[in-house]
Amino acid sequence: MRPLWTGKRYFVFILSGLLIAGFLTVSLVSYKVAEESVSSQIADDALPLTSNNIYSEIQQDLLRPIWISSQMAHDTFVIDWAVGGEKNPEKMIHYLKEIQNRYGATTSFFVSERTHRYYHPKGIIKTVSKSDPQDAWYFRVRGLPDGKDYEINIDTDTSDKGRINVFINYRVYDYAGKLIGVTGVGLGVNRVQKLIETYQERYGRTVFFTDLQGNITLHGSGFKGGALSLRDLPGIKEDATRILTTPGGSYTYRQDNKTIYLNTRLVPEFQWYLIVEQRGSPADKRLTHTLLGNLLLSLGVTALVLFLANLTMGRYQRRLERMASIDKLTGAANRQVFEVLFEQVLNRARRNDEEVSLIMLDLDHFKEVNDNHGHLAGDLVLKTVSRIVREQIRASDTLCRWGGEEFMILMPMCNIGHARALAERIRQAIEQQIIVCGTDAIKVCVSLGVAQLTEKEDSAELIRRADRAMYVAKTRGRNCVSIAEPF
Ligand code: GH3
Ligand code: MG
Ligand code: MG
Repeated sequence: MRPLWTGKRYFVFILSGLLIAGFLTVSLVSYKVAEESVSSQIADDALPLTSNNIYSEIQQDLLRPIWISSQMAHDTFVIDWAVGGEKNPEKMIHYLKEIQNRYGATTSFFVSERTHRYYHPKGIIKTVSKSDPQDAWYFRVRGLPDGKDYEINIDTDTSDKGRINVFINYRVYDYAGKLIGVTGVGLGVNRVQKLIETYQERYGRTVFFTDLQGNITLHGSGFKGGALSLRDLPGIKEDATRILTTPGGSYTYRQDNKTIYLNTRLVPEFQWYLIVEQRGSPADKRLTHTLLGNLLLSLGVTALVLFLANLTMGRYQRRLERMASIDKLTGAANRQVFEVLFEQVLNRARRNDEEVSLIMLDLDHFKEVNDNHGHLAGDLVLKTVSRIVREQIRASDTLCRWGGEEFMILMPMCNIGHARALAERIRQAIEQQIIVCGTDAIKVCVSLGVAQLTEKEDSAELIRRADRAMYVAKTRGRNCVSIAEPF
């Protein structure tokens, strides 16, 4: 069993931790930054811009009736005619008709303070009376505080509920500054209405107006379930007092997991607040998608890096293992690996009652090769010998460089007869080989000792017997094969 936390696993764990933490931090930080910049873009740019647009439309659309009514209230004809005793009512009726036509007004009127007559383009339609609740507006305007010359009434059209009219009730004074009546027009506020709808549909923004007390005065279709006051609106009502006591500001609140942005401003001409609201941001979804995309990409990159790291480490590990187990010069197994392998082969052989043979090989007079041809030539000889041996042995056999110029060949499932034949083949192949090194042609030969594993012996004893057999071959004159005595 390998320990769970090998160096490689630990490294992979640390690397993935670092990568994931790094990617996560970068993704989340950039998400936060983008979200904040979108938020501030909405709060600082988009909503104030909408507010400004609507405000300038109001200037044109809602201020127009005030301007017209002001013109009427200061018209010398109106003043002179009223002061002159309201003679020839058809003159006033004609005047009101003209005003109505010229400005496309829904209605125009003059109510006299002296006679309480209600002049209208269609004629004198009534006399206003304190006891009629319908005429309350007149007595309200009459009682307006000094310096306030008109009031604005917003009303839905009785014939068309979707149409909103703004009525201006303007006080008329004579040349001495005495109140002589109230005049004004009613005009449709179609443009503002359209604008409110457009912002609602196109940008998901809600636009509405409230008076100074927070009563909702003008709004788009399907407005917040028909709420009547700022103080009825969830989320906003917490800020209602602050909104209604400051000339303008930005607010945010959370509702249904969404950030809601609010921009308010006072419209001094009406003493109304214009409120623009945006639920969430259109970029929210895109930001979330980008975040998810980033995280997925990070995950992909992490997986790829880990895969490559694993691959590279595996390759280096294998190379290190090879370097640690293989003799660099000859490519034969080194002694450490061989000993492990040897024990495995012997154990299996005993278990399965298999035959195992061992050859000990030593180069003859190798010292002379070095002396006569140099060390490099000696190295080449060692390489060549090990190549020749490898060519002769089976894949299941193992060649090991046992010492300087001594090799061992371990042969599982091989009896002494086959081992001897192999040793002989190797001896002949080496004897016949001419090794060319520079201008030198070198010939070498080897002495070989062969032994087969007996039941009683261990690996050390087998090696000893093979070694002894090899020395017997040396003493017999070298370049020959000797079989070990049975143990
Ligand atoms: P013998 O026939 O009795 O085996 O004679 P020998 O000369 O082969 O015996 P000895 O053991 O005295 O010499 C072995 C020589 O092998 C000595 C050493 O310098 C040389 N040798 C050992 N390892 C290497 C090597 O890696 N490269 C080279 N070029 N020579 C080596
Ligand atoms: Mg030797
Ligand atoms: Mg030797």
